Amino acid sequence: MSTVASLKDLFSSFLLTELWKGLALTGRHFLSPTITVQFPEEKTPLSPRFRGLHALRRYENGEERCIACKLCEAVCPAMAITIEAGERQDGTRRTTRYDIDLTKCIFCGFCEESCPVDSIVETHIFEYHGEKRGDLYFTKEMLLAVGDRYEAQIAANKEADAKYR
Ligand code: SF4
Ligand code: SF4
Repeated sequence: MSTVASLKDLFSSFLLTELWKGLALTGRHFLSPTITVQFPEEKTPLSPRFRGLHALRRYENGEERCIACKLCEAVCPAMAITIEAGERQDGTRRTTRYDIDLTKCIFCGFCEESCPVDSIVETHIFEYHGEKRGDLYFTKEMLLAVGDRYEAQIAANKEADAKYR
């Protein structure tokens, strides 16, 4: 280090330059509006594409959308989806088992993207947890129940996102 640089450092230390700079920064932010969000009372906005808890959807007449094509199962990189299918009395094909193991899921959204009938979706729900083994293993009935409960929100998010696709 040159003599000039050393003298400059010494002078700076003597005048506590770095300390004053730090205090000035603190002072500037002390009076500026706070940006801390008081979660859970306050929440930040979520994108219509937010990928939270999964749901299976139905059509307006109550018929489940899923046609058991198994595309979501095939595309899932975490192998978190298990589907078994069968034919109903009316000749249509439906799942007899549709499970998602959320402890394996990486919330990539591939299942939603691959579904030809907008059946499997990821909702805005992210405040959920499991307390014992198996709590995060979601069966078809559980997924349909989530879909039934949040259908209005799911449909609104799909509509908001449609123009960007
Ligand atoms: S979000 Fe991704 S990892 Fe999770 S179930 Fe869907 S495809 Fe599999
Ligand atoms: S949820 Fe969609 S992609 Fe998956 S099996 Fe059903 S119809 Fe096919």
